[in-house]
Amino acid sequence: EQTVQRIAAGEVVERPASVVKELVENSLDANASRISVRIDGSGTERIAIEDDGIGMSEEDVQLAVEEHTTSKIRDIDDLESGVATLGFRGEALYTIGAVSRLTIRTKPRGGEAGTELRLAGGKAEEIKPAGRPAGTTVEVTDLFFNTPAREKYLKTDSTEFSHVNRVVTQYALANPNVAFSLDHDGREIFSTTGQGDLQSAILSVYGREVATAMIAVGNERSEGDEDGDGLTVSGYVSHPETTRSTREYVATYVNGRYVRSSVVREAVLAAYGNQLAPDRYPFAVLFLSVPGDSVDVNVHPRKMEVRFGDEASVRETVRDSIANALLDDGL
Ligand code: ADP
Ligand code: MG
Repeated sequence: EQTVQRIAAGEVVERPASVVKELVENSLDANASRISVRIDGSGTERIAIEDDGIGMSEEDVQLAVEEHTTSKIRDIDDLESGVATLGFRGEALYTIGAVSRLTIRTKPRGGEAGTELRLAGGKAEEIKPAGRPAGTTVEVTDLFFNTPAREKYLKTDSTEFSHVNRVVTQYALANPNVAFSLDHDGREIFSTTGQGDLQSAILSVYGREVATAMIAVGNERSEGDEDGDGLTVSGYVSHPETTRSTREYVATYVNGRYVRSSVVREAVLAAYGNQLAPDRYPFAVLFLSVPGDSVDVNVHPRKMEVRFGDEASVRETVRDSIANALLDDGL
């Protein structure tokens, strides 16, 4: 049983960033307005995620770490479109717990007592009352201590941390109304205010140089949705001359979910055409809204790759809205 559990866990919990993704999603689902992520080393040493969400009662937290338990009722449309509910259900805490030492400190909103639950390799070690404000802290230490094969496959600390950074960034940009912070080995990497719009989140995450050179895309124009295909685009793209020189960066969200899409990436490059200065690459954060039945993100759930029903119209809408935004900016 233990072995089966560990093999299953190895498929789901690929690396520290996969743990962070699941825990951040849980905090968002718990309606948090503040989410702090602290990482030590590669993340196998320690991942701690604290939120001010709805929290859990003693009974809830005991259930939460069991197999196939979820407090979330999802409707069948979510499951079919795959967009609203990527990943697996009712399994995250259970699987993460199976391959680490897991401590959950939580208190429900509205006065009840707080609880601390500790597991090691999936076995409950201790449960006791704990004082804290409403919300939840999930601390994962010694990730993969009992799955050495998985640990061996990990890259350097800085590579693993860069995956974590990317995940937290993705969620921070998609949720500018939530205050995110990310710390690595005690040093703050970024924090967002949770007050703002996408632009202020971009400023917090990427810094002034990138943020001041961003050009707004879409908005009123795409609300018109001239062809009536239900497809809209909004977000920010970089000025062709001030973009980063490293390599192109296109963050795409479809119906609020971060996805990867070569169709969108190519459409962004096409919009810049030959306006890019030599050795400059575009930077873009784009939110696409598409009817649920015209998108399939189940192609590779783990890789978050997306397939559009009508690729040509996605390509055209993205390219044209960016090209128009660049034109409006006098380029
Ligand atoms: P799922 O998110 O698919 O329900 P998980 O294993 O990730 O499955 O979580 C199990 C349950 O634990 C959730 O349904 C939720 O009730 C509870 N839970 C997990 N994380 C939090 C959190 N940060 N705040 C409040 N409740 C949480
Ligand atoms: Mg979850």
